[in-house]
Amino acid sequence: MKRLLLLAAAVAAFTAQAQSFPGSKPITIVVPFSAGGPTDRVARDLAEALRKPLGGATVVVDNAAGAGGSIGANKVAKAAPDGHTLLLHHIGMATMPTLVRNLPFKVESDFEYLGMVNDVPMTLIGKPGLPANNYKELATWINENKAKVNLGNAGIGAASHLCGLMFQNALKIDMTTVPYKGTGPAMTDLLGGQIDLLCDQTTNTSGQIEAKKVKAYAVTTAKRLSTPALKDLPTLQESGLKGFEVTIWHGLYAPKGTPADVVAKLNTALKAALKDADFVKKQEGLGAVVVTDKRMESAEHKKFVADEIAKWSPVLKAAGVYAD
Ligand code: ASP
Repeated sequence: MKRLLLLAAAVAAFTAQAQSFPGSKPITIVVPFSAGGPTDRVARDLAEALRKPLGGATVVVDNAAGAGGSIGANKVAKAAPDGHTLLLHHIGMATMPTLVRNLPFKVESDFEYLGMVNDVPMTLIGKPGLPANNYKELATWINENKAKVNLGNAGIGAASHLCGLMFQNALKIDMTTVPYKGTGPAMTDLLGGQIDLLCDQTTNTSGQIEAKKVKAYAVTTAKRLSTPALKDLPTLQESGLKGFEVTIWHGLYAPKGTPADVVAKLNTALKAALKDADFVKKQEGLGAVVVTDKRMESAEHKKFVADEIAKWSPVLKAAGVYAD
């Protein structure tokens, strides 16, 4: 009898918590990279857009950076499943299972999928004083300098790591890779001339490209972009790197076990945030595109990530880059 009463009390508390979501404590969006970088930028815009649809709740960003984005993802996988700790992550959710040895969580079963956010192209950029002024000159310069070329990235499993691997593979040249906890600090070092090259999302690079503070060589999408600051950049494909195509996508996650009605509330709020005119405009200005209504759905998000794991795993393995 005592047991039954305890069980009933637990169920009642659980239901009350779900009904009152969001509660009085803030909702934290964990970004698995440093502040000031491209994922952080998307998360801060999203946090702002989520406030209203979440009834005025406080939504904050926590940068749990390191290990290519796996530290932050693990933090959310192990967090209380009450809807107050969320993860914003990118294509790394699909590459980490292949690239990171002993990943401490399972991408496909340790999270509730809340819906996708946007697609973001990448750009290949160089430090201000780099002698190459276009992609052709860059290819020659890399060929002359080979391993002396320093290529920054955000650690194994990050988007910049993936792009850098694809780039080195396409050129058949091993450069020196310099890992950071995010491409925010990598950009600081690129601007200071400490590293030579970076492949990074337009959410971090478009402003620097527009202000002509970095050298911009190409975009990683199959087609040229229409964003004013980026529209003159050639694609890597048209620059001679056959089949080179990578676009970064972001999705929002909660720990596995978050109650279904809390997941539904978060999904509804996410959809409203993604329709917010201000959010959409900000993303467009940064070269990013908000996902279609279909991809805002939890089930579609889950399927998309599974498909991306299936797409990238053989590519990475064929390139000889994977954790054994
Ligand atoms: N752009 C980074 C990456 O390479 C991550 C970041 O700092 O947002 O994955």
